[in-house]
Amino acid sequence: MSTADTGVDTDVIVIGSGSAALSAALRAAVGGLRVVILEKSDKIGGTSAMSGAGTWIPANHRARDAGMADSVEEAIDYLRSASPPDWKSKEDPLWVAFATNAPRTLRFIEEHTPLCFVLTEEPDTFADAPGGKTKGRMLSPKPLSKRVLGRYGKKLRGSTLPHLFTYQEVHEGNLYHRPIRAVLRFWHRLLWRYLTNSRAQGSALVTGLLKGCLDKGCRIETGSRVVELTTDAERSAITGVVVESPSGRRTYAARRGVVIASGGFEWNDAMREANFRGPLDFIGSPRTNEGDGQLLAAKAGAMLDRMDQANVYPTMPTRYEGKPHGIPLIFQSEPHAIVVDRHGKRFVSEYDFNIGEALDRRDPVTGDPIHLPAWVIADCRFLRRALLFRWYARKSKGWIRRAETLEKLALMIGLSSTELANTVERFNQFCSKGLDEDFHRGEPPWEQFKAGGPDAALAPIERPPFYAMPFNRSILGTKGGARTNEHGQVLRVDGSVIPGLYAAGLAMANPIGTRAVGPGTTIGPNLTWGFICGESLLKDNRA
Ligand SMILES: Cc1cc2nc3c(=O)[nH]c(=O)nc-3n(C[C@H](O)[C@H](O)[C@H](O)COP(=O)(O)OP(=O)(O)OC[C@H]3O[C@@H](n4cnc5c(N)ncnc54)[C@H](O)[C@@H]3O)c2cc1C
Repeated sequence: MSTADTGVDTDVIVIGSGSAALSAALRAAVGGLRVVILEKSDKIGGTSAMSGAGTWIPANHRARDAGMADSVEEAIDYLRSASPPDWKSKEDPLWVAFATNAPRTLRFIEEHTPLCFVLTEEPDTFADAPGGKTKGRMLSPKPLSKRVLGRYGKKLRGSTLPHLFTYQEVHEGNLYHRPIRAVLRFWHRLLWRYLTNSRAQGSALVTGLLKGCLDKGCRIETGSRVVELTTDAERSAITGVVVESPSGRRTYAARRGVVIASGGFEWNDAMREANFRGPLDFIGSPRTNEGDGQLLAAKAGAMLDRMDQANVYPTMPTRYEGKPHGIPLIFQSEPHAIVVDRHGKRFVSEYDFNIGEALDRRDPVTGDPIHLPAWVIADCRFLRRALLFRWYARKSKGWIRRAETLEKLALMIGLSSTELANTVERFNQFCSKGLDEDFHRGEPPWEQFKAGGPDAALAPIERPPFYAMPFNRSILGTKGGARTNEHGQVLRVDGSVIPGLYAAGLAMANPIGTRAVGPGTTIGPNLTWGFICGESLLKDNRA
C-alpha cells in the first residue's frame, strides 16, 4: 500500500510497548521528535513487563561507582570470545555498537525516567573467557509505584513472577527454596510496596520507561495492531503504518520512520514450528507476540535472520490470563537430580546457564533436535527441598511422573531402563568422588555461584520414589527477525537499507542468540538497540 489518507501525522511510530519500543520512543522524544507508540494488546509492556528485568549492561556507571573495573573494549573482547565462533563475521559491527552504546543507554534512561538500577551479584555466564567479569554487568531496577502512571497504571501487563520482590531479593532471600522465610525477611518492604502499589523487576522497568515517555510527550495507543507498513510512491521508503483497532482501520504517517519492536514470534504456531521443530514444553511471553513485526518487515523486503534462535529457558507450568503458560524457574539444577536425553544419557551440566542451547542442539542435516525429548530425573529428596516447585508442579496434572524404581520410571517415559540405570550409577559415582568427570557440574564460575561449588552440586539419586519431569525447550521469546545494521536500520536481502524502517529487541535478528553471554542479555541489549534506533531517527531526516 502506498501512502494515502492519513489519519495521524507524527515523526516516529513505534510498534510495541516493551523494553525495546519504550527505549526507542524515549530517545526519539527526548531529542524533540513527536512519537506515537502503538500496542496491539490492551496491556502495556509486553514480555518486558513480565520479566525479571535482569539487565546486562557492560562498562556501566553503577559498577564504576562501586569501584569495579570494566571497559567497552573488554566487553567487545568478551562478546567475541563468548559468542558462537562462526558469528563474528556477521555480528561483530553489532557487538561493537551494542558494547559502545549500552553504558550510554543506562545513563540516559536513569537521567530521563524515574528508574534507578542496582547491581546484582551474578557473574557473566562465561566469566573466565577473555573480557569476562565475575560481577558488575548485571543490574535490575528498584521498585516504582504504578501510581506515577495515572490512568495507565491499570493498563500495565501483569507477570507470572512475584514482582513485589526485587530481583535481588528473589536471590538473596532464596525465594525458590524458602518462600515463607523470604516473605518474613522482607515483610515490611513487601507490605509498603503493596500499600503504595509499587512493584519491582519488569513492572518497575516498564513503569519507569513509560513515565519517561509520557513526560516527554509520547502518545500511546493500546488495542492498536499494526497490520501494514506504508511506502512512498517508488515503494522504496517506509512512510507510516496502517493500524487496526476497535474504532476501525487508520493510516498513520511517520515523517522520520517506523521502529518495529513487536517482540518474538513464539505464539505464531506456523512460524515457531518451522524454526523450532520437535517437542516444546511451555511459552512464557504474552500471547500477542505472534511475529507480526517479522512478517511486516519481510513484506517490506527485509532480510529475516537468526530465525532459529530463542531465549530457551527452564520453565514450569503455570496459568496466565486463564490459560496454560510457562514460568521461568531453574528447577533442574538441584541436588539429587539430573537431566537426560532421549537415550537416557546426560548431555550437559545441569547448572549450565546455557542449558537451553544444549536442549536446542540440532542435527546439522535434518535440523531436528538431537537430545529431545529430555527429562529431569530425580529422587524423593529433590521434591522435599522446594516448596515453589511443588506449588507450580500442581498446575499441570500428570506433569510429574512417579515410580518406585528407576526401571519402572524408565518404562513409563519410554527410556531404556538399562541406559538410565547406567547413567544414574555413573552420576552417583561422581557424587562419591565429588567430581563430575563428564560435564564438570558446579565447577565453572557461573555454576559455582549458583551451586556453591561441585560438592554442593553433586548429590546422588538413590532413594525411592523416583520422579521424572519433561524438560524440553521452553521459549521465553524467539530472537530472530529483521537483519539490521549497527544503526538499527533494517536491511534488504541485498544488504541495502530500507529507508525509514528500524528494528529493535526480539523483532530484530539478534546478535546475541540462544547462547546467552550473561543473564539479562535480552533486556540489556533490547534497551540498547531501542536507544540506538532512537539516535538514528534523530539523524536520519527523510522529510
Ligand atoms: C517471565 C519472564 C522473565 C524474564 N526475565 C528476563 C530477565 O530478567 N532478563 C532478561 O534479559 N530477559 C528476561 N526475559 C526475556 C525478556 O523479557 C524479553 O526478551 C524481552 O522483554 C522482549 O522485549 P521486546 O521489547 O523485544 O518485546 P516485548 O516486551 O515482548 O514487547 C513486544 C510488544 O509488541 C506488541 N506487538 C506485537 N505485535 C504488534 C503489532 N502488530 N502492533 C502493535 N504491537 C504489537 C506485543 O503485544 C508486545 O506488547 C524474561 C521473559 C519472561 C517471559
